[in-house]
Order: sequence, then structure tokens, then C-alpha cells
Amino acid sequence: MSEILIDLYSDTQTRPTPAMRRAMMEAEVGDEQRGEDPSVNALCRTVAALLGKEDALFLPSGTMCNEIAYRVHCEPGDEIILDATGHALHFETGAPGALAGVMTRTLDGEGGIFSAAQLADAVRTPARHHPRSRLVSVENTSNLGGGSVWPIARISEVVDMARGHGLRTHMDGARLLNAVVASGVAARDYAAGFDSAWIDLSKGLGAPVGGVLAGSAAFIERAWRFKHQFGGAMRQAGVLAAAGSYALAHHVERLAEDHDNAARFAAAIRDVPGIVAPDRVDTNIVFFRVDTTVLSAPSLSERLLEHGVRIGAMDESKLRAVTHLDVDRESVDAAASAIRTVVEDLQ
Ligand SMILES: *Cc1c(COP(=O)(O)O)cnc(C)c1O
Repeated sequence: MSEILIDLYSDTQTRPTPAMRRAMMEAEVGDEQRGEDPSVNALCRTVAALLGKEDALFLPSGTMCNEIAYRVHCEPGDEIILDATGHALHFETGAPGALAGVMTRTLDGEGGIFSAAQLADAVRTPARHHPRSRLVSVENTSNLGGGSVWPIARISEVVDMARGHGLRTHMDGARLLNAVVASGVAARDYAAGFDSAWIDLSKGLGAPVGGVLAGSAAFIERAWRFKHQFGGAMRQAGVLAAAGSYALAHHVERLAEDHDNAARFAAAIRDVPGIVAPDRVDTNIVFFRVDTTVLSAPSLSERLLEHGVRIGAMDESKLRAVTHLDVDRESVDAAASAIRTVVEDLQ
């Protein structure tokens, strides 16, 4: 395999910058699971304030943020309602069933965004023999929805509907700060109606590890129990938390560059024959399709590797390119020309 020079596989591919590594090296540390790590405590205070919640919990991954939240909110047999594109359905190895014992009910939103009316239709009427509808989860931005940003008005409608039906509310905010930068809506406003919300530090923010889950003090106290139970309690985790705090201080505004680069990439491949690029790119994710009579998505992905470009195929006809901290405008232009070259070479 040739060396990967331009990695658009995911925004998880970012490496800690030299300045971030210095912050990690200089971090004060202590025993995290006893609440004695000052760097972890500082990160949790920052994220709780950012999301307008009482408290927060540092976790090894975003997956653990979702799964612990489900476990806290639900009893086995309860149902969580989420969009059919939801990350927890496709990429968390069945953990909602395995760890929280919950069922999932899916809604067919547009680009991962569903309506209050769709939610209302899916809520079960209370009956002895029905599963209990318990939790609604909103993913902002929506990953498989193409990095789409939920309009804040839509979120309010969904949250109001959920409350009206006595549901708990959870926000998968793996890329919430991309939504914030793209829309100008504050993170705390997006998170306001949710009982729990979290952000991922290891996506576009560029930290190596971790997510932070926020909620009421009572929610976080119970979440601690499952953090231990799921094996996620840590010790001198301040070196990791320091990377997260550094990212929140220095890598948020710059997400706008990733969004510009994603839009630029989509525009650059739009007129390549045999490629169908999206009309709209909200944030840093671009799903595009190939005409499978010309070539398949996996074969385009493979041929791009020969040009030092990595873009993942999602299925036979669809690929996903994600921009981030470690790809600049020139790299994005070069990736687009590599696609053009591969496709033209076939014709
Ligand atoms: C990446 C991602 C997760 C899981 O986060 P990890 O840190 O990779 O475990 C959850 N939800 C969404 C929307 C994601 O994109």
C-alpha cells in the first residue's frame, strides 16, 4: 500500500499537535476515579458550562457516552427512539441491547433529522404489554445524515413533544461543536432541552482520546456507577483531559476551515463525470456517489490509495470524505484532482 498523504477517511484521523502534546506533558494529574485529577476536573467543569449542565463526566470514548446515558435513563425492555441513521444503531456493536437491555425504534428522518410528528407517531401508548417508550436521542450533527445540522427550532419542537409524552431526552453531540460553528447557535442553547448531552474530543477537535458526557448532578452521579461497571474509570487521566481542554481552547473556531474545505471538495468533484456530489454540505462530511457502471465505490477508494488519498467506501456506490485539522485546502484540492484522474483514466 502506498503511503497515505491525505487522509479524508474520518476526522478521527487527526494527530495531537506539538502544542497539544506540550499541554499533555505539563498536565497536573491525580487519581481520576477518586475525583482527584485536577486536569480532568477542569475539563469536566468547562464542558458542563459549555453545555449549560450541572456536571460532567470524562469518558474514554463517545460510544461510552451514549451507552452510559442509555443505561442511566432506561430500564431493560425500554425503548429508545432515534433516527434510522443513528450511530448507536450501526457502529456500537449492539451495545444498546447488550449493555442497557433496551430496544430501539427508528424514525426515517431526512439527513438524520426527524420531526416532532414522526416522534409522536412512534411513541407507544402505555399498556401492560407494550414496551415503554423512554428516551429520544438526537444526533447533532448527524454523521450518516451527511454532517447535517439540526435547526434549533426543530430541536425545540422535538424536545417539547418528547416532554409532552414523558420521554427523557439525549443528545449525541459527537460533532455538536461543528453544528455550533456552522450555525452560530450556542452549544448550551442546542443542549438546553436535553437531560444528557455530550461532545467527542477525538473527532474534529483533534484530541487523541475521549468524550465528555454532561447532565444534572443526579444524572452524573448515577453515570459514575456505570462508568466503573463498564470499565471506563481511569487513574491519571489528566494527560488525556489536558488534550481535550487544549482542543476546546484552540480548535473550535477553526472548524469553520474544515467546513469550507468540505464544501470546496464537493464543488471540485461535482462536475467529474460519473460522480454525484451533494448539493449541500453543512459541515465537514461529504457523502458522494459513483456511477457503478463506471466503477464501484470500493474500487475508487482502492485506486485513490495509489495516489496517497484515503476516502472510505460506505457501500457499492457511496463514499464518505471527512475534512479535519490535518487536511488543508491544498490537500482537499489534490484529493479532488486524484478522483478526477482516476475516473478519467477509466474512460
Ligand atoms: C464517532 C461517533 C460516536 C462514537 O464516538 P467514539 O469516540 O468513536 O466512540 C458516536 N456518535 C457519533 C455521531 C459519532 O460520529
